[in-house]
Amino acid sequence: MRLTVLGSGAACAGDGGNCSGYLVEDRGVRILLDCGHGVASTLISHVPPDTIDHIFISHMHADHFIDLLPLRFAVTKDLNGLPQPAGRLHLPPGGVRSLERVLDAVCFPPDFFSTVWNVTEYQPGDIQQLDREICARMAGGVHYIPGWAIRIDGSASLTYTGDTAPCDDIRDLATGSDLLLAEATLDEPEGGPVRGHLTAHQAAELAASAGVKSLMLTHFWYDADRDAAAAEARRWLETEVLVATDGAVVEL
Ligand SMILES: [Zn+2]
Ligand SMILES: [Zn+2]
Repeated sequence: MRLTVLGSGAACAGDGGNCSGYLVEDRGVRILLDCGHGVASTLISHVPPDTIDHIFISHMHADHFIDLLPLRFAVTKDLNGLPQPAGRLHLPPGGVRSLERVLDAVCFPPDFFSTVWNVTEYQPGDIQQLDREICARMAGGVHYIPGWAIRIDGSASLTYTGDTAPCDDIRDLATGSDLLLAEATLDEPEGGPVRGHLTAHQAAELAASAGVKSLMLTHFWYDADRDAAAAEARRWLETEVLVATDGAVVEL
């Protein structure tokens, strides 16, 4: 299993950076996890866009899905789409309605996505069989809107937190993963009733409690000190700590 980081930024990634996007390739199956600003153009420099078998969107914040618009044009410039949809777009619950509103706002036809991808919504507790030996599972996180973590099991196992505050369900989902790709958006823990992100320390605690083999921190603001985040995580975690940078490749 190979992970390529296409985008590792939070809602504003900074100069030259992309928002969330991760390409997972395993046994010939290509899976895109999230598709934030800038991801489509970077993706097509790595692989032909019509070879993506599955696209999973963790939640309907723009920094995680808005580049579905250019990615769709990368698959075909024809507004009529493909003769047959190729690949599947897996949206969170309510995602179909959200995309309909986006398409209405930007004056694209309502079948803009469904003529290139089979568009479905995943449900809590789903296990999605992507081929005979690769499956995806989701668990709900703690975020300002409903957000989901996604685990891919194949020749290795990878869990991506999406955006979340500390969350027992994501810990359970991630248990025993080879890699936990965890957001580390915050410098300081959030107080108050509304919470939606992790610090590097909290990401390390999540990795430790889930017993993962390695942790990769991601989802950084434009002004984040990524080295400091890694150093903070390493204070609390004995296993390997990596820091996502756009273009990074990890073999699992
Ligand atoms: Zn985000
Ligand atoms: Zn978010």
